[in-house]
Amino acid sequence: MPISGSPSLHLFSLVSGWSVPITSMTSYPMLSSSLSSTTPMPEYGTSASTLDVSLVVPIYNERESIPNLLSAIAEVMRTLNLSYELICVDDGSTDGSVDLLKEASLKDPHVVGLFLRRNYGQTAAMAAGFDHARGRVIITLDGDLQNDPQDIPRLLNKLDEGYDLVSGWRKNRQDNQVTRLLPSKIANWLIGRVTGVALHDYGCSLKAYRTEVVRDMNLYGELHRFLPALAFIEGARITEMPVNHHARRFGKSKYGLGRTFRVVMDLMTVYFMKRFLTKPMHVFGLLGMLSMLSGALLGVYLTVVKFTYGQDIGDRPLLILAVVLFLTGIQLFSFGLLAELLMRTYHESQKRPIYRVREVTSQDE
Ligand code: UDP
Ligand code: MG
Repeated sequence: MPISGSPSLHLFSLVSGWSVPITSMTSYPMLSSSLSSTTPMPEYGTSASTLDVSLVVPIYNERESIPNLLSAIAEVMRTLNLSYELICVDDGSTDGSVDLLKEASLKDPHVVGLFLRRNYGQTAAMAAGFDHARGRVIITLDGDLQNDPQDIPRLLNKLDEGYDLVSGWRKNRQDNQVTRLLPSKIANWLIGRVTGVALHDYGCSLKAYRTEVVRDMNLYGELHRFLPALAFIEGARITEMPVNHHARRFGKSKYGLGRTFRVVMDLMTVYFMKRFLTKPMHVFGLLGMLSMLSGALLGVYLTVVKFTYGQDIGDRPLLILAVVLFLTGIQLFSFGLLAELLMRTYHESQKRPIYRVREVTSQDE
């Protein structure tokens, strides 16, 4: 697989295709044994894990797709011997999706309808679903039938091989070439370079996570597409696998080119979090020192020129540069100190550890 050029290459060296045989009624030893919550549930998120799988589907005006979506998912899940729930997060739909979902949740015990008060956007909708999920594994997919529920068993198999996150890759993506595929190609390349997690397709909603990984991440902005990168920051083992993708049959896409800008901004946030979240002084302190030092050196040089050689320095651009460098340095340095304080508040107010434990083994267990 052409996943390369990334510092986290070791993560993907295991990705050698997905030749796991798919049988119905597969058993998932990991789901029942090692996944059974040995670590206490963090406070973030409201529910304890009592089911095998939670499917989370954000839905915003997808009336025509809902019946097919529900039946397709039910059909696939019937073939698996797993307890599950299907959380349909209605993101303030106005087209009658709400009634359809309410009805479905009353008819089918697996379906949970979660209705947000207004339209918050896909990321918030997914976060709401995550908070309510009771499964030990969370699978997300779109509510517009572009993802194929038939891929779910393969995702679970892959997760069972010891990964924390399996991301779908829409190898045959059925969207507009110019407005969607090209920006997406560039975005994927950029995100891969910046975050160090080289996936072909960050935008694919069809993903499977171990719940504890999701619980460790807080979502803002349009961050849902960076979930693999955020998970990587939290130490997750990540892989990807090709999945089906269909053209949108009903309704229309909620996004256009405008999304690109927001994604780039979020990318910068993620990059900063990855590099410097727990050590802002390492970047601001260093830059500040360098800047101050160069300013000071130039100042010394100018002083020597003035007093030893008696030259005028008042109209020299170098003097302005020296002053600007020195002041910038002080600012950067103080900013680093402030960031250190903020970082401490961030971690301590949420009781967020600066590390993540995968497992603890001892004789006491
Ligand atoms: N979505 C949502 N809230 C929004 C926009 C979209 O919940 O504000 C849902 C939408 O219903 C769909 C998924 O997010 O299930 C992906 O949206 P869409 O299909 O429009 O994105 P695309 O596939 O075109 O990237
Ligand atoms: Mg779509």
